[in-house]
Amino acid sequence: MDNYAYQPDDNGKPFAITRYPSVPRPANDYLVEVNSRSKFLKKPKFFKILSAVLIAVIILLLIVIIILTVQYYDKTYLSRICTSEECLKSAANLKLSLDSSTNPCDDFYQYTCGRWSKEHPNHGWFPTFSTFATISEQILLSTEEFLTSEETNDEPSPVTQARNFYKSCMDEDALDDLGLSVIFKYLKEVDLPSVPSFLTKSDDEIAEFHFDWLKSDAVIKKTFAMDVLIGFVVDSNMLNQSENAMYIGVPGLRCPLPSPFKKTGGDKSESAPDIDDLRRITNGNIIKFVLSTLYRNVTSKELKEDVLEQASDVLLNMTFEIDSLVANFSSESNDLQSQIVKDFQTRINEILRSDIKKDYPQILEKYLGFLFTGTNVTIDFDNDFFLLSQNDVDYLPRILSYVLTSSDIYLELYMWWVTVFAMIINTSSEIVEYIVKQTAPFYTGTAVLRSRSLDCSALVNSFMGMAVSYGLADRTFSNKTKPKVEQMLYDIKSAFMEHVKTISWMDQKTRTATLEKSKEMISFIGYPDWLLDKGALEIYYQGITLANNTYLDNMMSFIKLYVPSKLEVFRKINERNWSTDPLSVNAFNSFTNNAINLPMAILAFPIYHLGLEVLNYGAMGSILGHELTHGFDNEGRKHDKFGNYKEWWTHETIDTFEAKIECFVKQYDNFTLAGVEGHVQGKKTLGENIADNGGLRHAYWAYRKYVDRNGHEPKLPGFENFTDNQLFFIAFGSIWCETISPDDLESQIEYDEHSPNKIRVIGSLQNSKEFAQAFQCPVGSRMNPNTNKCQVW
Ligand SMILES: [Zn+2]
Repeated sequence: MDNYAYQPDDNGKPFAITRYPSVPRPANDYLVEVNSRSKFLKKPKFFKILSAVLIAVIILLLIVIIILTVQYYDKTYLSRICTSEECLKSAANLKLSLDSSTNPCDDFYQYTCGRWSKEHPNHGWFPTFSTFATISEQILLSTEEFLTSEETNDEPSPVTQARNFYKSCMDEDALDDLGLSVIFKYLKEVDLPSVPSFLTKSDDEIAEFHFDWLKSDAVIKKTFAMDVLIGFVVDSNMLNQSENAMYIGVPGLRCPLPSPFKKTGGDKSESAPDIDDLRRITNGNIIKFVLSTLYRNVTSKELKEDVLEQASDVLLNMTFEIDSLVANFSSESNDLQSQIVKDFQTRINEILRSDIKKDYPQILEKYLGFLFTGTNVTIDFDNDFFLLSQNDVDYLPRILSYVLTSSDIYLELYMWWVTVFAMIINTSSEIVEYIVKQTAPFYTGTAVLRSRSLDCSALVNSFMGMAVSYGLADRTFSNKTKPKVEQMLYDIKSAFMEHVKTISWMDQKTRTATLEKSKEMISFIGYPDWLLDKGALEIYYQGITLANNTYLDNMMSFIKLYVPSKLEVFRKINERNWSTDPLSVNAFNSFTNNAINLPMAILAFPIYHLGLEVLNYGAMGSILGHELTHGFDNEGRKHDKFGNYKEWWTHETIDTFEAKIECFVKQYDNFTLAGVEGHVQGKKTLGENIADNGGLRHAYWAYRKYVDRNGHEPKLPGFENFTDNQLFFIAFGSIWCETISPDDLESQIEYDEHSPNKIRVIGSLQNSKEFAQAFQCPVGSRMNPNTNKCQVW
């Protein structure tokens, strides 16, 4: 639209442009013929008036038409551009991270995220900084703001307790005043001495020394919610989700208290020998420092150097041997068998007898006796059973052989050390400072220590997520956001189900069962409905009392309730429920519940509330699709519609499926990253890659459904030349933008089941015909390498 206005000439004909003067005309066209003048004497005057009026009316009309046209044009133009706050925010966010100098068909991650790192400098609060981390930062800041804000009168008491908890974490003076006394208090609670007998007993006394390691293992578990030598948990029965079952075997439960080591690593990476050496030295230093400090505190004497050295060696060796044994049996195994307690006891004894010529009568019965004492559950050894994998079956006799051939004085020293180590970082500043300094090499280069206030906010979130969620929850969520997300999920599920109906590699029986499972899949979105109900939080946190100056006691009061409450559900009916709290910036598929969990924290900018549904479907939709597809990936497919672990597909379809997913293994095995040794592990990341690929596809078709129903949306400012479909894929790519060091990438490739973010984008899009079409990527380009694309869902 320009500024030239149309104006009529004297004959009422519009002409082009106003800038030129009108052609001069004779003063009076009607005074040419005299003869007729008398006859027409009055006529020219009449016509003059009439024509003047007509001209005026016409001019007026035309002006009105012009104004209306301009207004209409402006309106339709504007209605095609979204100028809401959310749209402007999304537009700026996407535009500023886009690297338009990269061809989207060459590297779509670079194209979408190329400038992201520059625009989002890492504060160092998280070792890897990503779109997800930007939301986590917001959550931490909001949590801190909420916990330090003025209390309101009608606040539920758990919210007040959460504030107390935060204060207790911040009060370092109180921690110093308590000093080591809290450690001694909990050692006593688990029947362990303040300093290990190894340091105080004479050789004669050691020879006579007896230690009940089995009882100690059970008591430590009940108090600290951690597995030491034996893994045990009561959880929903994998084979029948409506009830709960006992699982025993390889230790898996780690103490929920903050731990000194941030990076745990493993034993397979090439740099592992160095890390292991370093860890051994660090552990040795920490062991000696803690042993001598506690010894001095209790006896007011210095510990002899040779005893200290000996104790440290014993602990390092035992830690290494037990950790190695656990690691050897920690590989994933899919088999699951049930064993009646008594039968399993007999089986273990048979192995022990042939192995170390020793018996341990009723070890399992004794162990269960220690654990269930004080609960309302009595175990029936002749009928109750354990669920175990082959790894668990093999691990137990091995660890028993180890323990039964170790001396009791060593076993007590070991149990003492793991108990103290679990608590050590949560005590006085002298000890904390020493350990932080020692463990510094295990922190990544990019990570800096964040402020204690943020650490405390994160801690309160991890222990009291529901109480903090009460403070942070958007009160309009249930009426506004939730129905929209539910509609999106419905669209995605419909797209998935329509696709399943067309799949040729599946037989009819499996197809029907698959459709049933997706129909049966439930969702937990945002936060539980009860969260804002009066009195609900009080019930949820029943039994918890927190003071503002007893930091470790506060955490311990949660942990001590945890294990007994898990034990007591053993005979109860298991209900499908939330698997996470609302402040987790993540989404989950719970195989055993056949449920998708979408906490409110992830429903935030820049993943949701993006202004346009094309962006919401591309970003949040692909995440929802990912979770839905998990239910049918190489692991999820082994759980039926009730969540039970059983075979519910026909053998023929399983064979075809297994053959088809090899395509993904090969594709992802080929991905390497600049500056990083090795390549992505196609097998390890298989389930996640299947979910990424299916998720993207179903989100796309769900979005097309949305357009069919609602028509085209307005354009995003600055993206007027992009098609809807292009914008959809840009939104998808943008959620995976991140800044990550080569070191972290290397350990991600080694240990994480998710492919690195960059590969998540490239891998899924290489398999998307819709993407290739949207960006007109020629066959043979990096983002559209060939027409044989990997696809199962
Ligand atoms: Zn996943």
